Amino acid sequence: MLIKDRIAKEKGFVSLEFFPPKEKGAWPSFFSEVEKLKRINPLFVSVTYGAGGGTQAGTLDIVTRLKKEHGFEPMAHLTCVGASKKSLHEFLNSLENAEILNILALGGDKPQDADASFTENEKFKYASDLVGFMSKHYANFGVGVAGYPEKHPTAVSMEDDLKRLKNKLDMGGDFAVTQLFFDNELYFDFVRRAKKIGIEKPVIPGVMPILSLNRIKRIVSMCGASIPAGLMAKLNEADKKGGDSAVEKVGIEYATAQARDLLDNGAPGVHLYTLNKADLCLSLYDGLML
Ligand SMILES: Cc1cc2nc3c(=O)[nH]c(=O)nc-3n(C[C@H](O)[C@H](O)[C@H](O)COP(=O)(O)OP(=O)(O)OC[C@H]3O[C@@H](n4cnc5c(N)ncnc54)[C@H](O)[C@@H]3O)c2cc1C
Repeated sequence: MLIKDRIAKEKGFVSLEFFPPKEKGAWPSFFSEVEKLKRINPLFVSVTYGAGGGTQAGTLDIVTRLKKEHGFEPMAHLTCVGASKKSLHEFLNSLENAEILNILALGGDKPQDADASFTENEKFKYASDLVGFMSKHYANFGVGVAGYPEKHPTAVSMEDDLKRLKNKLDMGGDFAVTQLFFDNELYFDFVRRAKKIGIEKPVIPGVMPILSLNRIKRIVSMCGASIPAGLMAKLNEADKKGGDSAVEKVGIEYATAQARDLLDNGAPGVHLYTLNKADLCLSLYDGLML
């Protein structure tokens, strides 16, 4: 079923995001973590594509197994920077054969280790190029796109970035999933500004629980999200007193309250960045008392 149709039917849902483990040897434990999350009954599960140094190759196998063996409705992330028409057709035809008709269409980033031979294909530079390709060749697919409440790090301005989002949605995107953020007012303001320029499609907030200070500092430095001063002070204090386990406790409590507030104030659902950790998601989910 297309995710956009599921979104239209269900309010206050939870969806989950995974990344493919780099080593195949880690797959069995990955799938047992995933199986534990069945009781959340997520509206959909998404799998990243080469993000943060992860593999691209695993995405197809993992979404296929999530559907066939675990009964989830998967969405494959797909980036287009540096892709050829041929490689996109291969990936999308394989998805179609596996009866998976949902993708998150992304521009993506030039790989950090790209050498001179990496040629950016001018046909596929931004997510909107992939959305256009989907509308032309795979109109039967459902297409999500990414949105940035604090703007994309390379965007020229908040206004320009929002117009780029509108363009992706007007060209065939069905909904947006946001970058992680920690201040809900940023999301609500983003949705208000989006509505003002005519975006009516659902904007699903992305929530990431903080598990370690070093890890979250690295993530926010890459994606441009900000951590409110009050939260940062609590995390620093927890880190001094009890290290990662104390930081994780603060992180989960914060993410649970954040997700609850988002749902209570009109977000269509929440998209959890699971970090492939089932227990963390289950404790957050239980705290939501849905
Ligand atoms: C929910 C979510 C999931 C993600 N999953 C992955 C993943 O699985 N794999 C991965 O590698 N990365 C992933 N990313 C990161 C993403 O690939 C990067 O942020 C990338 O830099 C931008 O891709 P995009 O599709 O979000 O942006 P795009 O829409 O391509 O925009 C990128 C930048 O270009 C600007 N822009 C857009 N269109 C134009 C235009 N026509 N002319 C000029 N400027 C333009 C935008 O304002 C923005 O600054 C994810 C991000 C989010 C929020």
